[in-house]
Amino acid sequence: MSGRETLELDVLIVGGGPAGMSAALRIAQLQRERGGEPLAIAVLEKAREAGAHMLSGAVLDPSTLKDLIPDFKEKGAPLATAVHRDDIYFLTRTSKIRLPITPPFFRNHGNYLISLNRFVKWLAGLVEAEGIDIFTGFPATEVLYDPSTGSGQAPSTGSGQAARVVGVRTGDRGIDKHGQKKSTFEPGVDIRAKVTIFCDGVRGNLTKALVRRLGLDDGKSPSVYAIGIKELWEVPPGRSEPGRVVHTMGYPLKMEEFGGGFMYGLPDNFVAVGLVAGLDYKDPMFDPHVAFQHLKRHPVIASVLEGGTLVRYGAKALPEGGWYTIPKTYASGALIAGDAAGFMNSARLKGIHLAMRTGMLAAETAFEAVRTGETSEAALKAYDDRIQASAVRKELYPVRNVHQAFGYGTLAGAAFTGLSIVTGGGWFKDPLPAHGGWTRIARLAAYYKDARPDPESIVNPVKIDRELTFDRLTGVHYSGTRHPEDQPSHLIVHDASICATRCREEYGNPCIRFCPANVYEMVDAGDGTKKLQINASNCVHCKTCDIMDPYQIIDWVPPEGGGGPQYEGM
Ligand code: SF4
Repeated sequence: MSGRETLELDVLIVGGGPAGMSAALRIAQLQRERGGEPLAIAVLEKAREAGAHMLSGAVLDPSTLKDLIPDFKEKGAPLATAVHRDDIYFLTRTSKIRLPITPPFFRNHGNYLISLNRFVKWLAGLVEAEGIDIFTGFPATEVLYDPSTGSGQAPSTGSGQAARVVGVRTGDRGIDKHGQKKSTFEPGVDIRAKVTIFCDGVRGNLTKALVRRLGLDDGKSPSVYAIGIKELWEVPPGRSEPGRVVHTMGYPLKMEEFGGGFMYGLPDNFVAVGLVAGLDYKDPMFDPHVAFQHLKRHPVIASVLEGGTLVRYGAKALPEGGWYTIPKTYASGALIAGDAAGFMNSARLKGIHLAMRTGMLAAETAFEAVRTGETSEAALKAYDDRIQASAVRKELYPVRNVHQAFGYGTLAGAAFTGLSIVTGGGWFKDPLPAHGGWTRIARLAAYYKDARPDPESIVNPVKIDRELTFDRLTGVHYSGTRHPEDQPSHLIVHDASICATRCREEYGNPCIRFCPANVYEMVDAGDGTKKLQINASNCVHCKTCDIMDPYQIIDWVPPEGGGGPQYEGM
């Protein structure tokens, strides 16, 4: 007897971000509008409180919010300020060139600057007011399948599309770092539902497993991501302009690297500053955290931050691949919404409204399916039909090749993005050839030839002054990250011997650079060699290692309930 409890629901929403909360609210609205027996619904969220793991730029396109909650202002939506000015700069190391016009994709008139943490907390309050349970501190670790459709087995033939999802299992609690049960051990709960909506965020552990198990990405372009590192600052009065949005291109990134910087003026002398860098870079010594420190020292940013105080730090991966990389979003008993599926507009740097919209469309599909008793794959295809007919496709299809065009360099990407406005995004090849981001990282010998750097060195070092620039560990402190130490590592490296041998030789251990939280370190093994040390309790849950490891041997799995960052105000 495992003593495992089971909870039966009609609709389970996994992930309490903008997609999950919008899905829950939409179902509640449909229940009110249509009457009948209320559906049993719940939201499962891994953070210890709603919104704690939420991090985004964040400029909100309010189009979906207006549809979902027309009286959002009366209901006290925490919109920090409306955007009233956009500036775009191309940066060199010491100077700037301001673009004379703001390209349409970057225009933010009508949008709002928000704290996604506060916004999601607010949505959670509305969801709970509808009588829907939000179970916080419960990470889901496993997708449950109907045994009669091949549960737990690799599909024997084809893509295994017949397997039916029946819910998820939450993680066991009370296991020590050696994998032994403690006196506090409690087995995870099986939460079974007629329809499960997966909103577990970018590179969600369950969506990743589901997509692989059911072959939902068959025929799709490979996923591509970026890492966003962001800080919240309080600056001296008069330095920042609330409602001003600054985007930067160029320095500190190389022309071969996708991404750019941002700085948003918030009320009360707060400023959000960050760097987005494509996780499809070539230079194995590239260090996104160091690049972000360089950005803050540039006069455009430093002139605002100097004399200010760092308030919060965080990092998160972004799904940048676009329309052709979105997997099939429905399966028997399951739907995928938001960042988990890759609904983000990388040309506009916006995804919150798309997450909310797909959450709503998933909710409408799930509601109808449960009410009619038809939750098969064929019935849930209605979700895809809704997406195809919605503002989501209308927005994403014309920019379907934009990120891939940046694979040919910043200038080519920028030119293609501009051209997309005229051509509707088509090109001689459509889709443009695409590669998984991690496949583009070059070997040290190929990239640096005879000037091969020491893996422990920083190729483009930055002065850490603890005024403008900070090291990773200080960043972790400002992320509010907490994990109980006595638990198994939630970073699974399937063959750590590769780290000390092949990876060190071929790529110089890029994990020690792409992780923004100092989780991975190569330490002396005592015999003159190096070995991998994983400081799992530092992890800010950005998922970069799961995405960018050149051998694809790292799996990020959720730690014990509630662990992770506390992105207050981010
Ligand atoms: Fe991000 Fe992985 Fe580092 Fe955690 S260990 S902070 S998920 S790169």
